[in-house]
Amino acid sequence: MAVWENYGENQRVNARAIHVPGSLAEVREIVTAAARDGLGVKAYGSGHSFSGVARCDTNEILIDLSPENEQLKHRCVIDGRLINPAAAGKPLVAVETAVAVYELSDWLNAQEHPLALPAIGAVNGQTIVGAMATGTHGSEIAFGPMANMARAFFIVDGRGDCLLVQPSTPVFKDRDALQTALTTLSGEAVWLQTALETARPVADDDLFRACLIGVGVVGMIYAVVLEVQPQFRLQETRTARTWEDVKAHWQMPAAWHEAKAAWEQARDHSAGEALRQARRTWQEAQHQTLLLMLKRYFPDGDAEGLYTFSFLVNPYPNRAEGTHSCFVTVSTLAEPASVDSPREPALDRLRAIDQACTTQSWFLRLRRSLFRGAQRIFNRLFRRLGLDEVLTDILVWFLRTVPSTIDDLIDAVLRADLGQRLGLSHDILTREVYEVKGWGIEVGVSLDRLVDAVDTMLAQAAEMRRRRRYLTGPIALRFVAMTEAMLGMSADEMTVQVEITILKDTPHAERTLPRLERILLDRYDGVFHWGLEWDVASVEDARRSYRHFETFRRIVGEHLDPDSRFANTYTRRVGIYTTGSEAGSAAI
Ligand SMILES: Cc1cc2nc3c(=O)[nH]c(=O)nc-3n(C[C@H](O)[C@H](O)[C@H](O)COP(=O)(O)OP(=O)(O)OC[C@H]3O[C@@H](n4cnc5c(N)ncnc54)[C@H](O)[C@@H]3O)c2cc1C
Repeated sequence: MAVWENYGENQRVNARAIHVPGSLAEVREIVTAAARDGLGVKAYGSGHSFSGVARCDTNEILIDLSPENEQLKHRCVIDGRLINPAAAGKPLVAVETAVAVYELSDWLNAQEHPLALPAIGAVNGQTIVGAMATGTHGSEIAFGPMANMARAFFIVDGRGDCLLVQPSTPVFKDRDALQTALTTLSGEAVWLQTALETARPVADDDLFRACLIGVGVVGMIYAVVLEVQPQFRLQETRTARTWEDVKAHWQMPAAWHEAKAAWEQARDHSAGEALRQARRTWQEAQHQTLLLMLKRYFPDGDAEGLYTFSFLVNPYPNRAEGTHSCFVTVSTLAEPASVDSPREPALDRLRAIDQACTTQSWFLRLRRSLFRGAQRIFNRLFRRLGLDEVLTDILVWFLRTVPSTIDDLIDAVLRADLGQRLGLSHDILTREVYEVKGWGIEVGVSLDRLVDAVDTMLAQAAEMRRRRRYLTGPIALRFVAMTEAMLGMSADEMTVQVEITILKDTPHAERTLPRLERILLDRYDGVFHWGLEWDVASVEDARRSYRHFETFRRIVGEHLDPDSRFANTYTRRVGIYTTGSEAGSAAI
């Protein structure tokens, strides 16, 4: 028996064994052996999913494809001689599965001509494969989920066969041309050559779209081919407004409703090129609408070069004005020659908290003095000793012990990042939040439900507070452009993702997070996030949220995992596999 726990420590399982493969051949052996023994098998990446999507069931098999698996970290820029001329364009890289997002970003940036990922989630500790598998997205307004950068997958299916899954216009040349090209390569990227020689190529749009966000059931992904881009710089600006002001300006224009109606008509009644054209038109209409809407919140009203956009709303009103702080973070493409600004050290947070505690109640005055005293001590002692983490621990302890102080603290922490940051794309797109562990849920809603959904969350926070239950973090709102992925949250329409993040171990979180998720799903036709989910989603939610869900199930059941090898409690509960089916019986 071996125990595995996810990053959030809310998922734990006693596995029969945890295997650490070192090659494609070993991944195949593990799956084949599991099939022979009639056992279910799951892979985990960095374990950053809060849902049960990555764990195996008790006494079944786990495969460690996390960044700790040092053997599956090869990566290379793909030699142009291997690429199908019809698919050539931006640079392509091939990456083995255990590579973390931050490792990939650093490696891309270190290339002779620096490269970059076009999209990254709010953190970068996930594996690139694990992140894509649940639909991880960032704040990039035009890109969609990270899975949109995938161009091909090397997978080991439920019977241990290796497939190279590509769209109908494949990335790699056909088999004969590839063989010829491979002989001309020098000894570099032997691992990729081996994978290309081993895998059976399948160029099929549906299969590829199923693999884009595969939630761990489309096979063991051994490696992925990604389209990346030349490195770029971003200028980020965070400004403070109020939610009341933001929502007063959030009105969907009539053109958006018309474009949506036209898309729904086309989607239900056309096919082929007409459908593709309608989809492109709808995508463009949404993008233009969003730009128009977001311009209203720009510090200087200029949306030129807009790359990311997000709102962070304090769930609690400011005591003096009764309004909810709303921080607007935008980033725009910056000139290559701009100079980076240094990151905020953790101690500056304390200073910001100190400044924020201006309310005159005796308790807050006392707290302020305590912070001031603590700050002096920390400054003298802890900075010299380099113990920033202790400071964070103390703050987190304080919040957990006296969560009623959360309203000021949320503002204070977010205010610490007010102003501008400038830097390389991967530094600006992610935030260093690993000093504090959080828990969270996220639900995607249509742009026209944004205000109601947030107002409901604020009302819930107020009601919870009366019962001494607290949300110990802000509500984040990010926009996700459309994706071809069958299980993409934005497969049919751009979504605004409503994310509730709280400190890990916040009292009552196990009840409040699922409750809030349920409310967003039920009242706002929400779409659940495969990783940021508190295990409340049902098969009905999956069918309603994901239009291509049945097609996805069919592809998994008929092609990729006919014996339910990759099933677990989670994937059965959401209906990807028939409830109660065991590995070894038909998936559909
Ligand atoms: C601090 C934090 C911040 C986050 N920020 C964001 C964010 O900004 N945006 C967002 O959308 N999400 C966010 N998430 C959610 C997170 O990005 C997703 O849950 C993501 O899937 C985690 O990646 P991972 O590498 O940890 O994969 P895991 O959680 O380990 O696995 C995810 C899925 O991928 C499968 N898998 C992993 N590797 C393989 C493989 N090689 N072959 C087959 N299946 C595989 C697993 O079986 C599982 O089904 C955040 C989570 C945390 C904890």
